Amino acid sequence: MNVKIDIKSLTLEELTAVLKEKGEKAFRAKQMYEWMHVKLARNLDEMTNLSKDFRSECKEWCEYTALTPVRVQESKIDSTKKFLFGLADGNVVESVWMKYQHGNSVCISSQVGCRMGCSFCASTLDGLERNLTPAEMLDQIYAITRLTGERVSNVVVMGTGEPLDNYENVLRFLKLLTDENGLHISQRNITVSTCGLVPKMKELAGEKLQITLALSLHATTDEKRRRLMPIAKRYSIEELMEACAYYFEQTGRRITFEYSLVGGVNDRDEDARELIELARPLCCHVNLIPVNPIKERDYVQSDKESIQRFKNKLEKNKINVTIRREMGRDIDGACGQLRRRHMTASEGYAE
Ligand code: SAH
Repeated sequence: MNVKIDIKSLTLEELTAVLKEKGEKAFRAKQMYEWMHVKLARNLDEMTNLSKDFRSECKEWCEYTALTPVRVQESKIDSTKKFLFGLADGNVVESVWMKYQHGNSVCISSQVGCRMGCSFCASTLDGLERNLTPAEMLDQIYAITRLTGERVSNVVVMGTGEPLDNYENVLRFLKLLTDENGLHISQRNITVSTCGLVPKMKELAGEKLQITLALSLHATTDEKRRRLMPIAKRYSIEELMEACAYYFEQTGRRITFEYSLVGGVNDRDEDARELIELARPLCCHVNLIPVNPIKERDYVQSDKESIQRFKNKLEKNKINVTIRREMGRDIDGACGQLRRRHMTASEGYAE
């Protein structure tokens, strides 16, 4: 069987080589690349400056990915929009669009499901289905740009999935997203978040990109972290801190620590003190996230005073800290919640 080529996942050089083999000139590749990555064409037929014959020829060997919007939820509190998209194989992924003063930000998924098993996260409840291709990651941004009619300036890889568990595809996605012939999003406006796959963090450091690496820390001792995140059984906090220092050394980019505050679990004074000790030697920024409770687990959010006290303690110790604004709380804003709701509903469970 002839396997079709996923052309949106190819770099311009690769596309040029593929078309050359088919007897096409280099400018054809440039035209197609522009249709895909700048004009955000949804299919080959939108590429109107290519001849009809050429387009139908392409359909023989090209796989052209495109997402189908299944559901859009708009927050009444802020202008956050959450999109549930259908993939060609019937799977669904979710992406979030957030409007900030400094520009529009999109949070994308990197996998269908996740196998990391973090106990507070809805994305992992059904395990990993499959990796997303570079094109399917780009498509989330492209579809949202088309649907909102607004330019996206920031991208965070913080939706469903563990990006470093899909390393090659994520790297290719980053290359295409920042390519000057494509959307050309600045590397500095991109954040990749990981639960802490140490060898991959080091490998990423070696790519010397100017993206921000966010580490989902959430706990300050191995014992506490293991209770929240199974990955902590594999890599210790000491190894993680070493990998963070190495990332900074290699890239000059400040690390972000994500710390989801769970009431009574990791929000005590002792936790703040330990977090200060971990953060102090590193060039880092701490992002406190009030945990978004999911109905499958009985975690509760820390109360407002505990969150503020935690933050003040860090600030007093000169740790750079922010509390993440809760965007879209009313629309299943936390990772994986919308997809999960969609799946359980279609399986006939009562909500
Ligand atoms: N797998 C990656 C990226 C996806 S999760 C990672 O672990 O970093 C993005 C962030 O949201 C992570 O910090 C994750 O721990 C956090 N998160 C997941 N579920 C959450 C919830 N219910 N409440 C608050 N934060 C959550």
